[in-house]
This record gives sequence, structure tokens and C-alpha cells, in this order.
Amino acid sequence: MELGLEGRTALVAAASRGLGKATALVLSREDARVAIAARGKKQLRRAAQEIEGATGHSVLPVQCDVTVPKDLERLVDKVHERYGAIEILVTNAGGPRPGGFDDVSDDDWHDAAELNLVSAIRLIRLVLDDMRQRQWGRIINITSISVKQPLPNLILSNAVRAAVVGMAKTLADEVASQGITINNVCPGYMLTDRVRELAKAEAHKTDGDVETFLAESRKSIPVGRLGQPEELGALIAFLASNRAGYITGATLPIDGGYYRGLM
Ligand code: NAP
Repeated sequence: MELGLEGRTALVAAASRGLGKATALVLSREDARVAIAARGKKQLRRAAQEIEGATGHSVLPVQCDVTVPKDLERLVDKVHERYGAIEILVTNAGGPRPGGFDDVSDDDWHDAAELNLVSAIRLIRLVLDDMRQRQWGRIINITSISVKQPLPNLILSNAVRAAVVGMAKTLADEVASQGITINNVCPGYMLTDRVRELAKAEAHKTDGDVETFLAESRKSIPVGRLGQPEELGALIAFLASNRAGYITGATLPIDGGYYRGLM
């Protein structure tokens, strides 16, 4: 299927590793002009070089902490300078700290909201005027399956990501007539380096090995495996395309069937 992403300008936030990087790779393979952002300069440059090596297209790395408003403004300006208006925005960030209700403070709530909700709002605000002018835009928020089925011991993630869904659903309605779609993708267990590290830490606690721990995780996933980050990238590339112009305000699980609810 021809996605028609050639020459489109895409910005993927939090993309020096994991899901963001895989998304940037897939978009670049589809011939989009891709910019990536993250805090760590070295890893960010390495990711851009890896993607360039794999696709033959240049990738713009911009150092940016998505919780810092000035960084976001600079990020969008840099992409503008290099590629012009941003047509595809993928919002993403690291995850908030784990814990239950009694484990987290007001500051933790505030930080989680800044990291996973307000950063997305600010980025969207920075690209929306251009999208409105062009009467075309695609916004995709990377959230988590926790917005469908809250996960134990992750109260910050469960609550704050749900707010992203509420924001996106409302905004989708407001911008639908302007050719702009906004959707949320909800990864379940995807095999990123971070997930491997978490598995290693969990396995270490129980004196087990990583493979046994991962095998245990696979039991709750009907397809019997963890997801590949590029599978999420493929879903995002489709949502970013003209082909997906009739999909907006949607919250789509990509979880190998992990979520058992109907909607
Ligand atoms: P990851 O491998 O740890 O990658 C996170 C990326 O975000 C890195 O490039 C990191 O680079 C960047 N980042 C973190 N905080 C940032 C900030 N404040 N500003 C800018 N960039 C930042 O994580 P992942 O597994 O890809 O997960 C990505 C998101 O999806 C997380 O929110 C995670 O909770 C969520 N998620 C993941 C899964 C999964 O199975 N992997 C499932 C559901 C939801 P720097 O540290 O250098 O900034």
C-alpha cells in the first residue's frame, strides 16, 4: 500500500531509543523528512546516524527535554529551519515513576503531568497553526495500554495518560474540519531495550534469568510474544498517511491481544 509519506515533514519526540526511534525509522523508510528529539546528545546523534544509514535519508537530531517549554520552542524552530512546517507530529516521552497511591507525592503528580500530558499539549500547540494553514496535519500520541486497562503499581501513568486521551478526543473534534487528525496509540509489552533492562532487574530480584521472566510475561499475551517496536512504527506510519484520513479521535491498542475489553 502506498502511504504517500514521501517528503512529508515529521517530528518524533523522545526518539533516541525504543518506540520513538523505531517510529522515526519507519517514517524515514517511507521517505518522510524526519526530526528526532531527546535529552541525551550522544545517543540522539547515534540514533540519527543509524536511521540515516538504514534509509539513506537525512535525519535531524535536536537535543530537547520535552518538559522544558523553551526547548520545545527551539525544537520546532529547528525543524522549521531545516524542513519547513511540521505536518506529522508524534508525541512521546519517558514513563513517570512507578508506585501506588501512597507512594507518590504532589511533586510526583506534578512531574508526571508535565512529562506525559503537558509536554504533548505544548508540542501540539506549537504545530497546530501550521497544520491549520495547510489544512492537513497528523498528530499521534504514544500512550500505553494502561489507558484501556490500568496497570498495577503505575498510578501516575494510568491517570496522566488517560488525560491525554481526553484531551486528544476533544481536540480531534475541534480540528476535524481543518484536515487534521489526532489519534492515540496504546502499546502493550513491546521489546525495547528499556523493557529488557526492566526484565533484567525483575529477574535479578528473584534470582531468575531474563528469558524466564520474559516467558512469564508472554503468558498474558494471546499472540504469545512481546511486540517489536517497529510494529508500533508501522501503525503510526499508517495513521500519519492520507490513507488514514477518516480515523480521528481513536485510541488504538497494539498489544498482541493483551487488553481483554470490548472497546
Ligand atoms: P525508552 O526505550 O526508555 O526510550 C525513551 C526515549 O525517550 C529515549 O529516547 C529518551 O532519551 C527519551 N526521553 C525520556 N525522557 C525525555 C524527556 N524528558 N525529554 C525528551 N526525551 C525524553 O522507552 P520506550 O520503551 O521507548 O517507551 C516510550 C514511552 O512509551 C514511555 O513513556 C513508556 O512508558 C511508554 N510505553 C512503553 C511500552 C513498552 O513496552 N516499551 C509500553 C507502554 C508504554 P533521553 O533519556 O536521552 O531523553
